[in-house]
Amino acid sequence: MALFLPMRFILRPSILLLGYLFLAATSTDSQQPAIRIIAFYTDRGEPDHIAFANQALSFFAGFAQKEHFVFASTTNWDDMDAAKLKDVRLVVWLNDFPKTQMQRDNFQKYMENGGRWLGFHVSAYNDADTHWPWFVALLGGGVFYANNWPPLPAKLIVDDPSHPVTRRLGASLDSPANEWYLWKPSPRLNKDVKVLLTLAPENYPIGLKDTLLSGDLPVVWTNTKYRMLYINMGHGDKIFSSTQQNNFFADALSWLARMK
Ligand code: ZN
Repeated sequence: MALFLPMRFILRPSILLLGYLFLAATSTDSQQPAIRIIAFYTDRGEPDHIAFANQALSFFAGFAQKEHFVFASTTNWDDMDAAKLKDVRLVVWLNDFPKTQMQRDNFQKYMENGGRWLGFHVSAYNDADTHWPWFVALLGGGVFYANNWPPLPAKLIVDDPSHPVTRRLGASLDSPANEWYLWKPSPRLNKDVKVLLTLAPENYPIGLKDTLLSGDLPVVWTNTKYRMLYINMGHGDKIFSSTQQNNFFADALSWLARMK
């Protein structure tokens, strides 16, 4: 058969080599690098915060495995450094935050270079004593103001049911017992902030020892100037008792991890 082929159809070794290289490059490109997630948490302090962190670790590790994400966790906040965060797609804080200037500077650099952050509950705590204005700006400007006590369930309004994070919730969410935080000013006043869940006003007054009487209380929001999401849930061992809320947690992690 080859005898009858015109010369231009006879493959020369150099063309075969080029073809091989092309195929090799194509197959490498089709293998996406693994999405790496690291969760920082603490095993010291308020037991209700640690209980949530431990449940969150097993929930997200299980979800990450299903999604083929590489999920790691650490209690060593000095791991917040450029080398450790190099190929990390998403950083999660479970009820704690960096305390040293070095950890904070490294996190700021990570976020300003396109990093992603998912923070829960007391992770976003800030007041006059935390002295970290950049982080307050990342949150959208709100400073911790008040909380209810004891933790109580609450009805939450879904501000945008079309958002990838809230699309499985419908119009509202009956959220299990949590300690809800009020922020001043409300993050909603920042034009770059998109609020996704808000405490329904019908919950007021909420609390017994410490009672919240009124106020705009965003529970979940994103500052659109960054790739970030803050979720106020995170107090106690009831948080993962709602399938609907668990779906929302999974969608939140997935949205940040896969965001372009
Ligand atoms: Zn708490």
